[in-house]
Amino acid sequence: MSGGILVIVEGAGEGGNAGISRASLETVAYAQSLGGPLKLILPGAASPAQADALAALAVDEVLLADFAYPAGGVAGYDGDGYVAVLAEAIQRLAPDQVFLAHSYGARDFAPRLAARLNLTLVSDCIGQEGQGDAVAYLRQVFLGRAQARVKVAGAGPRLVSVQAGVARLEDLRRGAAPAPVSRSTLAMPAAPRVVAQAPIREGERSVDLSQARIIVAVGRGIKTQENIALAKKLADLLGAELAASRAVCDEGWLPIERQVGSSGQTVAPALYIAIGISGAVQHLVGMKTSETIVAINKDANAPIFKVADYGIVGDLFQVVPALIAALEGA
Ligand SMILES: Cc1cc2nc3c(=O)[nH]c(=O)nc-3n(C[C@H](O)[C@H](O)[C@H](O)COP(=O)(O)OP(=O)(O)OC[C@H]3O[C@@H](n4cnc5c(N)ncnc54)[C@H](O)[C@@H]3O)c2cc1C
Repeated sequence: MSGGILVIVEGAGEGGNAGISRASLETVAYAQSLGGPLKLILPGAASPAQADALAALAVDEVLLADFAYPAGGVAGYDGDGYVAVLAEAIQRLAPDQVFLAHSYGARDFAPRLAARLNLTLVSDCIGQEGQGDAVAYLRQVFLGRAQARVKVAGAGPRLVSVQAGVARLEDLRRGAAPAPVSRSTLAMPAAPRVVAQAPIREGERSVDLSQARIIVAVGRGIKTQENIALAKKLADLLGAELAASRAVCDEGWLPIERQVGSSGQTVAPALYIAIGISGAVQHLVGMKTSETIVAINKDANAPIFKVADYGIVGDLFQVVPALIAALEGA
């Protein structure tokens, strides 16, 4: 390859698109928007559906890079295996830039990959400026109050994790013809050092909000736990996930895994409806890249309106029932 972009793609269980994580596909869309040669690599065992989904994209090649231990395969995520196949591919292909979604998995394997190849990892980027060696990556700092421009000294490859929502899934381009797919299996030297347990989010109460297309989020303005049923009704009618500000989770009205923000999940759905949420910076940092933001708040000066595409200044106990009635009548 020598030059161009390599995107590391991760698989996903339920909620993924043909078994590919939504955030990874957004990262591919981001790479496509930059132009130039583009290859994808999926570490681990790939299903036929995953291979087909990746080959259908407008990319130059898809690499399915599996790994195998002498004593048998590893089902699912294995950090050592990921680092081994990715390090081999990056050294062989020598891309200018390597992008990956800033996922939970990436938080584990990306720093190890950087250390293995002696590369700088620029994490959680929201964009870039400039070209070639002069490129500067943009990162949010101080909980989104300021932006930093990060330049990596020396030649590539530059390893960059990309924040969810930086590109839109709708902008993902498909190829005119299927991209060539190559499969490889790297022999791992010993037994796995870590045996992954079942993913936590498969637990009954857990939810991965980053995969949701529509989110209805409630804040302290909802006043009591009982009133959350109102937001839940709206969410059900829209086929949306229910989320919350920290104030609501701290009260115990909704579980912590539904919290959006700097100490909760980062989300970028097509539609985010914020009900009775003031828009503190710690909340905004987790949702402001949503495609369309609708805010319902009785305070016209609430900061949430600064990021909202549509704002309804009013009492949520009047506005939300009216929305529900309209949807039920539709
Ligand atoms: C280190 C740190 C990390 C944090 N992490 C997070 C995080 O991850 N996520 C997060 O959300 N917060 C986080 N916070 C907390 C954050 O600073 C805010 O306190 C919190 O987001 C406020 O939640 P809220 O908007 O629901 O409540 P409030 O700020 O109390 O806002 C309630 C809003 O409801 C409106 N309202 C009231 N009644 C009605 C009504 N009848 N109709 C319509 N509107 C009404 C009010 O006008 C107000 O704007 C963090 C804070 C710190 C210090």
